[in-house]
Amino acid sequence: MKLFKNVNLYAPTSLGKADVLMASGRIAAVSLSGDAPIELRGIAGLETIDCQGMSMAPGFIDQHIHITGAGGKYGYGSMTPEVHVTDLIRCGTTSVVGLLGTDGTARSLNSLYAKCAALEAEGLSAWMLSSYFGFPPKTITSSVHDDLLFIDRVVGCKIALADVRSSYPTANQLLALLREIQVGGMISSKGGVLHIHLGALPEGMDMLFELVERYHVDIKRLSPTHVGRTAHLFEQAQRFVKLGGMVDLSTGGTQFRPPWEALAQAHEAGEDLRNYTLSSDGNAGIGILDAEGQLTGFKKAPIDLNLWNVQQILRETDIPAELALGLVTSGPARTMGLKRKGSLTLGMDADACIFDHQWNLSGVVSRGEIMMWDGDLRTEGNFPRA
Ligand SMILES: [Zn+2]
Repeated sequence: MKLFKNVNLYAPTSLGKADVLMASGRIAAVSLSGDAPIELRGIAGLETIDCQGMSMAPGFIDQHIHITGAGGKYGYGSMTPEVHVTDLIRCGTTSVVGLLGTDGTARSLNSLYAKCAALEAEGLSAWMLSSYFGFPPKTITSSVHDDLLFIDRVVGCKIALADVRSSYPTANQLLALLREIQVGGMISSKGGVLHIHLGALPEGMDMLFELVERYHVDIKRLSPTHVGRTAHLFEQAQRFVKLGGMVDLSTGGTQFRPPWEALAQAHEAGEDLRNYTLSSDGNAGIGILDAEGQLTGFKKAPIDLNLWNVQQILRETDIPAELALGLVTSGPARTMGLKRKGSLTLGMDADACIFDHQWNLSGVVSRGEIMMWDGDLRTEGNFPRA
């Protein structure tokens, strides 16, 4: 049991000075200034930590990260490695939604499930999406519907549109898939979402507008990502938000301008940033091009740029901190239907990031356990690095 005293609490709503009690992996009590203080006596193992001058936010959720690796665009040698738990902790990520990319054969949903379970065993929280870029979908059971019902960690399904590597599914095929997601999400009470990789082809989000405007698909079931890839996609994303949707920008992948700048401009133009999220696309395979556009090599997408982009917003703009923090906490929890994540309120999972007064990440708590403090890791994972 841990009592964090005198934090500036961002739940992510800004709640001012607070004491936060974590017990059995949950938020057991929150006392705001003016509330009765949390009084605890004679409890063995109680750790009281004074956090004067520090801010506490929910642990970050990375809703698009290739935890088992991805890539392969430039041959087997360009397949990226899987993520190490300490790399997630160092950038405040306490929850992930893992997924496959282009390749659904050399990479499998079975190993993705196992990696989710491994990260849970190492103290984080992990979910996954069924399928990959292509269509028909790949699944663990016999269908996306059954994956949602019977595979505890599956919260939705992935597909690619507007990309030369997609299967160019028709509206009817997507409608049938969405029906599986909708019914599967309802019965399993997980929400259920279709997470859509958007490539650089000029049609962009056209198909999504057709699904919503012509076929009246529930826009909350659609989760378009990589919307900061081109200026055109970002314009379409703002139109999608006006229809009631949520959109996701990748911090580690291709982008027409740094996501924090694109979001600052959108905020300036009156957009509500609660409809936007950030995800890393970490460990995706990225080609390195020279000035002539010729491929000179490849690298893996970094996984720590959600933190950096949020810090840039917090340090360089006048956007309220609760909106900046919501991009990687309450926002992705809402999109992915993660009911006990993304908020530091009573009964929620005790996942938290602790920042100093300059928004440097100092501490990370996951399911009530301190994983990093004063910038030092408290765990090396089950496979410490040499
Ligand atoms: Zn990706």
